Amino acid sequence: MADYYDLLGVSRDADADTLKRAYRRLARQYHPDINKDPGAEDRFKEIGRAYEVLSDPQTKARYDQFGEAGLGGAAGMPDMGDMGGFADLFETFFSGFGGAAGGAGARPRRRGPQQGDDLRYDLTIDFNQAVFGQEREIRIPHLETCTTCNGSGAKSGSGPTTCSTCGGVGQVRRATRTPFGNFTQVAECPTCGGSGQVIADPCSACGGQGVIQVRKKLRINIPAGVDTGTRLRVAGEGNAGLRGGPSGDLYVFLTVKSHPSLRRDGLTVLSDVKVSYLQAILGDTIEVETVDGPTSLEIPVGTQPNAVLTLENKGIPKLGNPVARGNQRVTVSVQLPTRLNEEERTLLEQLAGHHSARGVQHHHHNSGLFARLFGQG
Ligand SMILES: [Zn+2]
Ligand SMILES: [Zn+2]
Repeated sequence: MADYYDLLGVSRDADADTLKRAYRRLARQYHPDINKDPGAEDRFKEIGRAYEVLSDPQTKARYDQFGEAGLGGAAGMPDMGDMGGFADLFETFFSGFGGAAGGAGARPRRRGPQQGDDLRYDLTIDFNQAVFGQEREIRIPHLETCTTCNGSGAKSGSGPTTCSTCGGVGQVRRATRTPFGNFTQVAECPTCGGSGQVIADPCSACGGQGVIQVRKKLRINIPAGVDTGTRLRVAGEGNAGLRGGPSGDLYVFLTVKSHPSLRRDGLTVLSDVKVSYLQAILGDTIEVETVDGPTSLEIPVGTQPNAVLTLENKGIPKLGNPVARGNQRVTVSVQLPTRLNEEERTLLEQLAGHHSARGVQHHHHNSGLFARLFGQG
């Protein structure tokens, strides 16, 4: 086995940064995905092993004193020989969905700036607030950059250092023996949580996280014409980014409460109204509910059951163009009486041309008949 310092091409007194740079350069050079030369993979593993040992002050000290023999039985050391450089290679392509990290899956995490998570906030608003829009104050819990350490997570004067468990890669590989063979499992580094860096002297304000959970008061402007399912984006009000990365966005998902008597169909407001059979036959002007408040609606003479009457411009404003409004469509149901008093019966029978024993004696002008009949309605 070659000397670890020779493998990495560094002197015995090289500092941590020099070691790391040398390791990363060589890891890229010999990475099996890139270098197809025979022996490249073995070389890659040796480099990884060398860096693993030399980047940890304790194992480095043992190696310096006793050579390879000093490392025997270093139990618990992760097998990361063939993974160095992996994160680097993918960094460019990986956009860093911070919220997805931490699961069982093995995904490379960026060690550089990382964009903060987008957040979802569910907001329920009243029917009329959705129609006309409203400014609302909400309180959202989100992460903000720690002002004490400016997001570094380290106490002032100190800084993050390369994680010695994973050598700054953020991942470890473990061999698992099963009846079907040996599998290598890639997992997030347990020491640094995948960031590749550890903070020896953490900021006391944020516990080394670089971000703090804050309940922030926000005024959001709900535009006229929104509906259930409308998603409002509030730029930059998601979680703060890590290591100088940009903040995520806040998405407000709206749910609109139903109205006791009005319904929505796109830009159209739908409602029902009941009129008496006399109002339907003779016509009338009645008051109906609209999103603008009570409004007069003319019931034309001879309105049929289930006729649909239109109130122009009483519908929903178009989202983004509130000057354009839909209409309200009112479905008229005609109520027939279930019982008649004596007088009504008499009048209706006369109207029907049916002369009962009593009714036949009366002679009325038609005008008088209508006046008495409909005077009740
Ligand atoms: Zn802090
Ligand atoms: Zn680590």
